Amino acid sequence: MLILHYTGMRTAEEALDRLCDPAAKVSAHYLIDEDGGVIRLVAEEKRAWHAGISSWRGRTDINGASIGIELVNPGHEFGYRRFPERQMAALNELARGILTRHPVPPRHVIGHSDVAPLRKQDPGELFDWPRLARAGIGFWPDFTGETADKPPGLCEIQSSLAAIGYFCPQSGAQDTATIAAILAFQRHFRPERCDGVLDNETRRRIAICARAIG
Ligand SMILES: [Zn+2]
Repeated sequence: MLILHYTGMRTAEEALDRLCDPAAKVSAHYLIDEDGGVIRLVAEEKRAWHAGISSWRGRTDINGASIGIELVNPGHEFGYRRFPERQMAALNELARGILTRHPVPPRHVIGHSDVAPLRKQDPGELFDWPRLARAGIGFWPDFTGETADKPPGLCEIQSSLAAIGYFCPQSGAQDTATIAAILAFQRHFRPERCDGVLDNETRRRIAICARAIG
């Protein structure tokens, strides 16, 4: 898996200090500054501690099966802002290289909030997933065009979210974990609306993603 994060700290220096501090017990393979500068912190074949308690497609040892990239951005706590073009271009190039070295399927290129919807918001709704997908990185189905079927109900939504990869109990109820999974889905695939509410467009996009995955 390739997991994308934002640093969520006021400055790049602060983030770098934390990522290099053994006491903090956090690390990532790469850090990309807003000016496009890339710092390698951990060798790709080594484990970095970036995901924490997380899950994707039923797998929970995410750190042992992923490369983590931190993007410098203050995050939702300190003034969340767009990821500059130079930073995105650097990510593009770095990710392309990683994908040539490791067999990562498109649906395994995801955000921290995708694998930890109850705890994390990064890289967040301002992250441009379609841009990456246009460069052949990650999964972005075609959401344009009509879908004739009627929007799926809650049980179907839960099984679709789980099929895509999200931790989502098949409870038939709008419990905390389900709302968190819906919100994480929105941050990634429907960034115009991030409220955890299952409106028709969110339902439609979940169905399209699940279908695209097959
Ligand atoms: Zn993160």
